[in-house]
Amino acid sequence: MPFVYKKKYGQNFLQDKTIIDHIVNAIDPTPQDLIIEIGPGSGALTKNLKKYGATLVAYEIDPDTHKYLDSLEDLKTHIIYDDFLKRDLALDMQNYEYNDLYIIGNLPYYITTPIILHLIESHITAKKIVIMVQDEVADRFSATPGSREYGAITVLLNYYFKVDKLFVVSKTKFYPIPNVDSAVICLQSKDNCEDVNLDKFNQIIKASFQFKRKNMRNNLKQYDLNIVEEVLKHHGFTLDNRAEDLSYDIFVELTRSLFKS
Ligand code: SAM
Repeated sequence: MPFVYKKKYGQNFLQDKTIIDHIVNAIDPTPQDLIIEIGPGSGALTKNLKKYGATLVAYEIDPDTHKYLDSLEDLKTHIIYDDFLKRDLALDMQNYEYNDLYIIGNLPYYITTPIILHLIESHITAKKIVIMVQDEVADRFSATPGSREYGAITVLLNYYFKVDKLFVVSKTKFYPIPNVDSAVICLQSKDNCEDVNLDKFNQIIKASFQFKRKNMRNNLKQYDLNIVEEVLKHHGFTLDNRAEDLSYDIFVELTRSLFKS
């Protein structure tokens, strides 16, 4: 039976051997490490990842991919047929002994941001996260303050990770061919991350960017504007500035100051 590609699962399978090598070579695990793959599909990356001899755990939502993935399973390669977003990753990781953790995947694009939020919320520390996303999303993730692409997700991501766009992948390298080009990005955890409550941080970022053309005074009017003004002033800004002007550390300080009990 031929494989039926499911649009609802974002199934665009990578066909190009050189690109597959490039992605897999962006991580450098040892046999003592653990690799998590998100969405192995037909196993394009999975097959190649096995060369590292590391423990490999791949999460795939579509059981029809058994036909591709069964032959790849062995003592160190495990496929979990489930929705990645529903997994308790910290609990899953307790089943394995390893030194460093790497996360890799050609992501299903309909859930790119939920997957990244799930990784952050799971409090698992990966040495490197190498993922393929839509090219324009990669630009948003790695944007700098003041640029058109800079938004709420940029702030969140840049607080937790050093974000690097590695290379662009043409849409023609996939089957079925998607509508847009993709890009591979690398996220590396910042270990100097001071603790900030993720829900509150997210709340302030979302409110600040709610209306893109409005300034901080308008977007944060439901909060104590005296506190907002004080924090902004400390960084050389005013309530007339827009969220897109401000770097992630200012949002961290705003969250801390506004929710100080
Ligand atoms: N890794 C393969 C490749 O590079 O050719 C497939 C990539 S394809 C863009 C995304 C894969 O993620 C598909 O196999 C899809 O079935 C799977 N997927 C979609 N939603 C998922 C979810 N919530 N949890 C786990 N896997 C998911």
